[in-house]
Amino acid sequence: MSHEFTRRKFLKAATTAGVGGVALRYATVAGMFGAGGVPNLLAAETDKPVKLGGKPVRTAAFPAWPIIDETEDKALLEVLHSKKWFRGDGQVVNQFETAYAQLTGAKHCVATANGTSAVIAALGALDVGPGDEVIVPPYTFVATVNAVLMHHALPVFVDSDPETFQIDAKKIEAAISDRTIAIVPVHLGGGVSDLDAIMEISNRRKISVVEDACQAHLAEWRGKKVGTYGEAGCFSFQTSKNLNSGEGGAVLTNDDDLAERVYSFHNNCRARKTASYNFTYRGTRGANLRLTEFQGALLLAQMTRLEHQAKTRDDNAQYLTKLLGEIPGVVVARNYDGCTRNAHHLFMFRYRKEEFAGLPRAKFISALGAEGIPASGGYSPLNTESFIKDAFKTRAYQRVYPADLLANWAGRTRCPANDKLCEEAVWFTQTMLLGTRSDMDDIAAAVRKIKTYAAELAKA
Ligand SMILES: *Cc1c(COP(=O)(O)O)cnc(C)c1O
Repeated sequence: MSHEFTRRKFLKAATTAGVGGVALRYATVAGMFGAGGVPNLLAAETDKPVKLGGKPVRTAAFPAWPIIDETEDKALLEVLHSKKWFRGDGQVVNQFETAYAQLTGAKHCVATANGTSAVIAALGALDVGPGDEVIVPPYTFVATVNAVLMHHALPVFVDSDPETFQIDAKKIEAAISDRTIAIVPVHLGGGVSDLDAIMEISNRRKISVVEDACQAHLAEWRGKKVGTYGEAGCFSFQTSKNLNSGEGGAVLTNDDDLAERVYSFHNNCRARKTASYNFTYRGTRGANLRLTEFQGALLLAQMTRLEHQAKTRDDNAQYLTKLLGEIPGVVVARNYDGCTRNAHHLFMFRYRKEEFAGLPRAKFISALGAEGIPASGGYSPLNTESFIKDAFKTRAYQRVYPADLLANWAGRTRCPANDKLCEEAVWFTQTMLLGTRSDMDDIAAAVRKIKTYAAELAKA
């Protein structure tokens, strides 16, 4: 603990003193301490990896999540004592919707119980249903696909662009059929999928776009917030997300009528309450997908830190991208030119084991973990998951879709680039980007250390 503190303090001093270059900075710090009873700080990087009996680069934890203070206490207690816990009784969810629409520049925002129900509500309000095809990426959280299956529509996977980890927009057109009703691009990891190309296809072919922006709060395409390009944009406020109320979600839209249909869908087909509480039904289907006033209050409180946290993540991500970019075999996900702001829900890169003496990714991740740097291998290919094929065997799918369509589905939705991406991907989570530059130095030091000893680690 005190060792870690001393080391970080000196690294910081070295940085602010204007010592350029990471290697030089470490050398300078090591020189300050030299030999003797004082811990040798250079050891952190040149010592053997923990897996080979060395000391870890880092023992301190990365920033904890969520981050709260008395703002949350006050907001939650106010709702509690108001005894208005249901959005129909209070004003807090309404206030959140107004604030989130203002923040994103959307005309309308409808809060939902979670991100999954945001996508379900958006697709439902667009009357996506049995017999329809919906284009989705294979590199996403399973909820994107579950929302399509909930409507008994057919998910059609379009391969990934491994350089960005986003859907490969160049391959979308070939996947369109006369059943295609919508494209659900996912702004994965807080990066942005190619909205120029996707919106061009959408406009020309008259196919709806529902953006899954569940990982992309505050991300921007050409200076405009994501979630405002498609007919609808969906967000998640689940606890791991960059804006968090434990569970929660929202649909953005600029379309007045669609906003009312989404509202009704999330409110059991009941339109907005009128002064006389003379409610009317509208839309074609619905459920109860409402957010509570408690969650609305948490979101308003958490939003006070959103911009500042996004800035911290972006500064750290840019610095880490530079550090890792200098290591052959580490290929950080790049942004498309149109992406003017990345929300960095994940820090994603491809790990090329060929450049690490053949050290398998699983061993690389495990060695990183041992150095105090938690990492994950990310998603597995969704398009080959058996639960989707099982869904097609159900009575509803069997009745609705021609047998040859279901039989040809697997061949139509092969995603070879994504298969490779799933083997090479490594992620760090957004909370790791909320710390300091020296935290980023630690991450890069651990990767360099593992690379130095990769051959030995491969044999271990
Ligand atoms: C988190 C997430 C969802 C679902 O959100 P929940 O709030 O967990 O229901 C959907 N799509 C993507 C890409 C996500 O990351």
